Amino acid sequence: MAEVIVIGGGNAGLPAAIHAVDGGAHVTVVEKTGELGGALWFTSHSISGAGTQMQQRRGIIDSPQAHFDDIWRIGHGCATPEILRVATEGAGAAIDWLEAIGVPFTHESPWQQRGRMPGHAVYGAPRTYTPIPLDGIAGSGPGRQVLRALERQIDQRRDQLTIRYRTRAERLILGQDGRVTAVRVRREDRTEDLPADAVVLATGGFGANRTMLRACIPDFPDGAISICPPHAQGDGIRLAEEAGAALVNMDMFVVVASGIADRRAPELAIYWLMLPAARPPAIAGDIWVNRQGKRFIREDEVSPDAREVALMAQPGCELFAIFDEPMRRGLTEEVAATTRASFEGRTPNIIFSAPTIEDLADRLGLPPPALRATVDRYNAAVDAGHDPDFGRESMPKRIDSPPFHGLPSAGMIFLTHGGVKIAPDARVVRTDGSVFPNLFAAGEVMGAGQVMGRAFAGGQGVGMALTFGILAGTNAAAAAIAPHLADSKRSKNASSRAT
Ligand SMILES: Cc1cc2nc3c(=O)[nH]c(=O)nc-3n(C[C@H](O)[C@H](O)[C@H](O)COP(=O)(O)OP(=O)(O)OC[C@H]3O[C@@H](n4cnc5c(N)ncnc54)[C@H](O)[C@@H]3O)c2cc1C
Repeated sequence: MAEVIVIGGGNAGLPAAIHAVDGGAHVTVVEKTGELGGALWFTSHSISGAGTQMQQRRGIIDSPQAHFDDIWRIGHGCATPEILRVATEGAGAAIDWLEAIGVPFTHESPWQQRGRMPGHAVYGAPRTYTPIPLDGIAGSGPGRQVLRALERQIDQRRDQLTIRYRTRAERLILGQDGRVTAVRVRREDRTEDLPADAVVLATGGFGANRTMLRACIPDFPDGAISICPPHAQGDGIRLAEEAGAALVNMDMFVVVASGIADRRAPELAIYWLMLPAARPPAIAGDIWVNRQGKRFIREDEVSPDAREVALMAQPGCELFAIFDEPMRRGLTEEVAATTRASFEGRTPNIIFSAPTIEDLADRLGLPPPALRATVDRYNAAVDAGHDPDFGRESMPKRIDSPPFHGLPSAGMIFLTHGGVKIAPDARVVRTDGSVFPNLFAAGEVMGAGQVMGRAFAGGQGVGMALTFGILAGTNAAAAAIAPHLADSKRSKNASSRAT
């Protein structure tokens, strides 16, 4: 029987495995950790797609073309058009499939980003979907809900599917004709070559590999917080490159502004919060300063992209929210509630406090005279009702009532934009522009830049993994089966000639 090896049992690998089995192949999933799911254990809440049955039921007019146009705009025209086309045309069907296999979605789905400070750039139609969180876990529960449904599908196909846990793919072995013939894997200290008729790379990104981030991204800001899962080490990118694959967008870098890391594990934020959503400056009153103690943006800026671009230009990608005591207590009930719930009573403290602005600067490691000058200039702007530096419109009050407070935060890496170049059928492209006949890639290993451009397009991380997982699995099965069909046709012809 034709054998497809899927490397990585996560968000893209599981749909790939399911569809490769349905395409008639036997599938082996090689997973380096002890469990399936990958980033689905962490993924928060959005999947995007147009033309779904849920949209139709709610009478929402939308199309893959409109989705394409939105992402092209959001990503500054830097996505790969033919790959973005496949992503947007397949996303709706992928979401319909999730619904069909039993993923329950919130009754607000599909929804549209709104509010004072949307977390991601706003699409032109409601096309973002949130699975009902599994076990009520708000942050990561939606991803776990998807994982549960995928695991049920995997279980139904056990007779055609083998999972090898704690097994790391280390090398792709090529035949003389350039086809991948086997995958070298390691389990503990034993290596083995698993023969393959086709291979799907679904190993995720490299957001947890600080060395690789520094090597690929010029001026990588060391302050940036990675919230990517520990397995996101770029293994698949390295395997593909060693086999002769072309890489794309490896220096493309986008952070989400901004998050607060757990200071006990600063490089991998176990605990993270989106500062703008929890304390929107327009109503909280905060100013934002950089490591030099200077403002760098109108803090009531609504465009997430403008915030991301401005933050990436700051030293270390760091942002400090500065406010006084009445602002800490909350100028509105909404801010009082989110500040209480999100920021206070944490161990260790994430809000720094001091009796004077200079002492606060000292505690935050900012230059005291610079922060003093910034606060004085901002207070003068509040008095004048005009912000000559950045044109901020909403300035509810002066920062003048001690104690003063500061919340350090930084740009967050959710996923990586660089990866393996693919053709529209998900086959991996070689450095000479030809395609591998039987090597496919799906999900973050192909780099989010191909389907987002230079930005963070909401719901496209999970969307890309599902859509290309389905496509790669289907096409890998066909590629694996084709030589077997040709062989059996040849032997049939030979035996009919013999008789
Ligand atoms: C906290 C967080 C929240 C997010 N929220 C959203 C969101 O709301 N919406 C959205 O669209 N995107 C979101 N993303 C991004 C999105 O979750 C990921 O981009 C996507 O799930 C990646 O899927 P994947 O299959 O490519 O990789 P993964 O799901 O990470 O799977 C990769 C798998 O490959 C395995 N593997 C790696 N190397 C090897 C090897 N050498 N051998 C064998 N196995 C290997 C890994 O162990 C893992 O199981 C979020 C990401 C994070 C971290």
